[in-house]
Amino acid sequence: MHLDQNKYRLEGGVDPLALADKYGCPLYIYETAVMKSQFDRLSRAFALPSLKINYACKALNNISVLRFFKSLGSGLDTVSIEEVRIGLLAGFTPSEIIYTPNCVSIDEISEAVSLGVKVNIDNLSILEQFGELYPSYPVCIRINPHILAGGNTKISVGHIDSKFGISFHQTPHIHRIVKTNGMKVEGIHMHTGSDILDIDVFLQGAEILFQVASEFKDLAYIDFGSGFKVPYKEEDIETDIEELGEKITSRFTRFCKDYGRNLTLMFEPGKFLVSQAGIFLVRVNVVKQTTSTVFAGVDSGLNHLIRPMLYDAYHKIVNISKTEGRSRIYTVVGYICETDTFGVNRKMTEIHEGDILAFYNAGAYCYTMSSNYNSRFRPAEVLVHEGKDYLIRHRETLEDLLKTQIALDIFQTDDDQQSSK
Ligand SMILES: *Cc1c(COP(=O)(O)O)cnc(C)c1O
Repeated sequence: MHLDQNKYRLEGGVDPLALADKYGCPLYIYETAVMKSQFDRLSRAFALPSLKINYACKALNNISVLRFFKSLGSGLDTVSIEEVRIGLLAGFTPSEIIYTPNCVSIDEISEAVSLGVKVNIDNLSILEQFGELYPSYPVCIRINPHILAGGNTKISVGHIDSKFGISFHQTPHIHRIVKTNGMKVEGIHMHTGSDILDIDVFLQGAEILFQVASEFKDLAYIDFGSGFKVPYKEEDIETDIEELGEKITSRFTRFCKDYGRNLTLMFEPGKFLVSQAGIFLVRVNVVKQTTSTVFAGVDSGLNHLIRPMLYDAYHKIVNISKTEGRSRIYTVVGYICETDTFGVNRKMTEIHEGDILAFYNAGAYCYTMSSNYNSRFRPAEVLVHEGKDYLIRHRETLEDLLKTQIALDIFQTDDDQQSSK
């Protein structure tokens, strides 16, 4: 979304206020043009013929968004068997899907095998069971390189205390399991978690991965995961993709030369591809002045966008109903019956009840983390593509809320039975 002559506009000049009118609020809107430019940026930064980008669909899993990524030539990164199934329904072939679960049962992994997708294993116990059951099914192994590349401690996953991956110190035992069962290791993987700020730390992790990879002779790919940081505020730093791309590309080329064969370089970004592609529109129900604060109370809450309350994520908020005039300071809160704050001390153009506010960076981990808390309906989702808007998920109804519930009739009172006769 951008400002154009004092009006907010989406891709192709689409007016977000018109979409709020047409579909109602609260509303998630995604722009394919932003997803594509991020995808192209990554492809350019890692300019290798054998680059494969697998979109991490837990960030935003609408099936139409998956289809769009498929049309760009992306593969799919999945973390549950449900995501695998949605990916297949979206049209990805099994070989385009990599499945990276954590702490799932061997039964779920067996299901992934029966669907034919790439399987990435992140602990020795499952690796052993897998080797006994499917010795000839190629596997990828998730290595924990024990690095902390930056960011929020709740979303860092590659450090020593993390539950993810097999420690690179345990490589000798991986070899024992692989050799004993006659397994074929086709990929080596790491994913260090979100918000890489320090490229050098990431490169140290990559060195460890190259070291481990050099010990496996049947590799087809090395997967460096993701964790690319995107800006949330004007002054925010983001991962320097271009610099990282240059460094990884030349190092990877050198590795392949030593290895004696060209391997595929894989990444699995979620946030980088979709965060900035999304906005979330809400309507202001109440402007409430207390002794110390001016609150703007909106028709949504942590049930629709939990990131600020869950891990202090910052979402820029603007009043798109009014782009000119004086600014005031607001604390933007939701309607959920507990502390439900979206943003504190936010300066924006003066808010009147009924105005529409837009949250930036609402593409990743927003809708997918939403819930029905307080029995609220989840919002609709709209995709803006080449100047047109498409509804890709309808707003929920009471019927949707009750669909999975069973209303027992054993608790009826005599009065109820009388009146129902
Ligand atoms: C969540 C996840 C990703 C995507 O991370 P982003 O920070 O959204 O890019 C990639 N790979 C795996 C295994 C994940 O769990």
